[in-house]
Amino acid sequence: MPRDADEKGLTVKKTEDMPEWYSQLCIKAELADYSPVRGCMVIRPHGYAIWERIQQFFDTRIKALGVQNAYFPMFIPESFFKREAEHAEGFAPEVAWVERHADEERLALRPTSETIMYDSYSRWIRSWRDLPLRINQWNNVVRWEVKDVKPFLRSREFLWQEGHCVYETEEQRNKETLLYLDEYRRVFEELLAVPVIKGEKTMAERFAGADRSYTIEAFMPDGKALQCGTSHDLSQGFARAFDIRFLGRDEKKHAPWQNSWGISTRAIGAMVMLHGDDKGLVLPPLAAPVQVVIVPILFEDTKAEVLRGSAALRDAFRDVRVRLDDRDEYSPGWKYHDWELKGVPLRVELGPRDLEKKSCVIARRDTGKKESVTLADAPKRVASLLAEMQRDMLAAARARMEKSMLPVSEEKAFQAAVAAGKMALAPFCGKKTCEEALRERFAGVTSRCIPLDGKAPKGKCLFCGEKALHETYFSRAY
Ligand SMILES: [Zn+2]
Repeated sequence: MPRDADEKGLTVKKTEDMPEWYSQLCIKAELADYSPVRGCMVIRPHGYAIWERIQQFFDTRIKALGVQNAYFPMFIPESFFKREAEHAEGFAPEVAWVERHADEERLALRPTSETIMYDSYSRWIRSWRDLPLRINQWNNVVRWEVKDVKPFLRSREFLWQEGHCVYETEEQRNKETLLYLDEYRRVFEELLAVPVIKGEKTMAERFAGADRSYTIEAFMPDGKALQCGTSHDLSQGFARAFDIRFLGRDEKKHAPWQNSWGISTRAIGAMVMLHGDDKGLVLPPLAAPVQVVIVPILFEDTKAEVLRGSAALRDAFRDVRVRLDDRDEYSPGWKYHDWELKGVPLRVELGPRDLEKKSCVIARRDTGKKESVTLADAPKRVASLLAEMQRDMLAAARARMEKSMLPVSEEKAFQAAVAAGKMALAPFCGKKTCEEALRERFAGVTSRCIPLDGKAPKGKCLFCGEKALHETYFSRAY
């Protein structure tokens, strides 16, 4: 029995109430579901399939760079956790503990794995010949967030990858930390069509225990930045705390140089929020689990031919991820809404009249444009439309982002820019105390990054009047 399309559609518009629109979209498009445990989420197959595309894309790239995958326990002894003081302090408010017996050491549920991995590294690394050591794990981490949870963007448990590499020289480490950051840019821009700014975090926003933290930042349509991935030059404090030493080419003991880098299921949230519309998800073709859906228009007397024609078309689309929606119980209109909600990039409609003309209709999810194409030309046209859509989505998102980036040179303009939901580029001294003071003055505003391709600042720090060191982006953020 055909069901009414409205019952499962979104009931709010993206521009009217973005938080509610986003939550509804994640649930109704079947990416995620509520969990009986507060602050956690269930990732449904449609959402998980997108995560698998991200994994495949990134995993292939890092393996080509010499990274190997491994797995470490999710329980970390409290004593490990406390060996690197700054790190322990940085994560303290978010750590969840397991306590079983009074005489046993408490165990942390990993908020990140530096400590437990470096304990192993201290036994595995002996000589310069063991370096570089490049290990990644795909796992879950737990951060007991107190803020509101939001599917993919903020939850107490999430999936991610964390890479942890060890090098003989500082130069090699510095070079590769930026290499992984650029791989993250590729995941976001090339796969998810989410444009990002590559930059360095200010002192106040640095990872606990890092000398330098790099980030890629995306800008969401509600005027908030989203930190999408980070890559850190770790201080040698970790090597000292975990006694990682190697015998160098000079036959002397040395502390190695380390980095760590991660992206999470937050990537899915960024893509959903940036590209979704009032009808539902809009998936960039390379990230879409289903790229093309064929919807046959069925009438009793022509049903058999149209289904045969649709199956032939499905077979002809063997080079793309295609689904033939031949479900009996739904009308074509219901199916259109359903696949629009799920964000499938292209819909191919085939009815008896199309079949007579040996043609079909292709509809694009992002623009809504429809065109009639001969059945013979359809596979080629589908491939070119998917490629065009991937390019167009990134270009459109980049144009929107660039409109939101505003250089400012005085405090009034800064205030107006951040209040209007823009990302303000301001000359900044980089000092932690200065940033803490400005956070209080402009509630909710934080520094996002010092762009890597930025210019030297002119004049003084906008906030304290001391010498400005960098042009730095500021905005509200997730
Ligand atoms: Zn300052």
